[in-house]
Amino acid sequence: MEKITSLLKRRGFIYPGSLIYGGLQNTFDYGPLGVEMKKNIKDEWWNRFVRRRSDIVGLDSAILMNTKVWEASGHLAEFSDPLVEDKITHERFRLDHLLEQAGTKIGGLSFEQMIEKMKGKNIKSPNGNELTDPRKFNLMLKTSLGATLETSSDIYLRPETAQGMFVDFKQILESTRKKIPFGVAQIGKAFRNEITPGNFIFRTREFEQMEIEYFILPPKEDKEWMEVFNTWQKEMEKWIEDLGILGSDIHILDVPEGERAHYSKKTIDFEYEFPFGVKELYGLAYRGDFDLQNHIRESGQDLSFVDEDGKKFVPHVIEPTFGVDRTMLAVLVSAYDKEQVEGEVRTVLRLPNWLSPIKVAVLPLSKKEELINLCEDVLRELSDLGIISEIDITQSIGKRYRRFDEIGTPYCVTVDFDTLEDKKVTVRDRDTMKQERVALTGLGKYLKEKVF
Ligand code: ATP
Repeated sequence: MEKITSLLKRRGFIYPGSLIYGGLQNTFDYGPLGVEMKKNIKDEWWNRFVRRRSDIVGLDSAILMNTKVWEASGHLAEFSDPLVEDKITHERFRLDHLLEQAGTKIGGLSFEQMIEKMKGKNIKSPNGNELTDPRKFNLMLKTSLGATLETSSDIYLRPETAQGMFVDFKQILESTRKKIPFGVAQIGKAFRNEITPGNFIFRTREFEQMEIEYFILPPKEDKEWMEVFNTWQKEMEKWIEDLGILGSDIHILDVPEGERAHYSKKTIDFEYEFPFGVKELYGLAYRGDFDLQNHIRESGQDLSFVDEDGKKFVPHVIEPTFGVDRTMLAVLVSAYDKEQVEGEVRTVLRLPNWLSPIKVAVLPLSKKEELINLCEDVLRELSDLGIISEIDITQSIGKRYRRFDEIGTPYCVTVDFDTLEDKKVTVRDRDTMKQERVALTGLGKYLKEKVF
């Protein structure tokens, strides 16, 4: 993991946040390459699930929402983790994590049952010290709105993007006249005051989500919602495969009854074999009509759907949820590879081409002006085609190849002295390292077919 994070920092994928002021723990900034890659993920997700489908519409709702939203959704009362503190060092831990480490199955345990287990097993802090009694720690991140201290009021940053899609449900129905089944999708930041953030970008207090609320008719039989659920499971599996993540590194966890939310008839977690353990990457849940009913009750508004026969009902919902940052991490971990080539170690990010931040490197064999001019022509043609490319003129060609291997650039185009004569360039493939001569005319089209 250390090797990957240092590469990501060095090459401008992910930096520690606020570094010149000593940093701010567990915050990260996406650098020039990271932001391109993250954008590729979000764009493809949006194109796939919103633009290419007639049954899903997009939304970008505000991060700050009326506090009543969080009262209605249950987040203010329920969205908490069990917190314990080391009595000597005052370090904080999640009791569920400590119990799990001690071999206790926490699935289905209530807060009170966790306390019993903690006492029964005499759970200590990892430092060997006594722990405080557990308390429920709410994960909502609070801030205040208003010009002066006296007039300002507490407000919460959203802990998930989902509620915006429920709160706007009626407005979306009225403005789009969509028929059930249909979905609403949203990409955006979410904030949680996590007790134990860590493992690089796996668990942070500020992160990004891509979520869909897929509304269906209230099912008469289980098989009706199960069919939609299975279709979404397959969509998510296909998405994971297209990210270049091996199916064998993914484990589907059917969340047992006691552990999933009481209103959910089925929840699965897509877990990935991260270097620090098998942990949740994505989730898929059948949430019934819990959310809309909560908002109907608390807002007093009618959020039901009326069908063509004038029949009114509150739709049920299937929710696929994807973390953007965990996607980045899983993709980068999957793509990272080291191999021996001619007695040297070659580091390669074997990213699927569509995910690579820089698709093509344009490399003049020497710094001679004629070659550099030709490279600039190639670069212009590629950028006109929307292919993000970069010229690199320093150091030996071998070193330059390695530099682009390390950031996952799928193709290097080398312009040499023969190019001036035969109007051909050498195109090198990152994975096979095979090289072929390709005519300058049509080079852009040739590469475009390969990189997207
Ligand atoms: P965990 O059990 O790991 O805390 P969760 O079950 O609380 O996760 P959800 O509420 O289902 O997570 O959130 C949906 C998705 O958002 C997760 O599958 C994950 O990809 C992402 N996510 C949740 N919390 C964080 C976080 N603190 N940092 C980064 N991504 C997160």
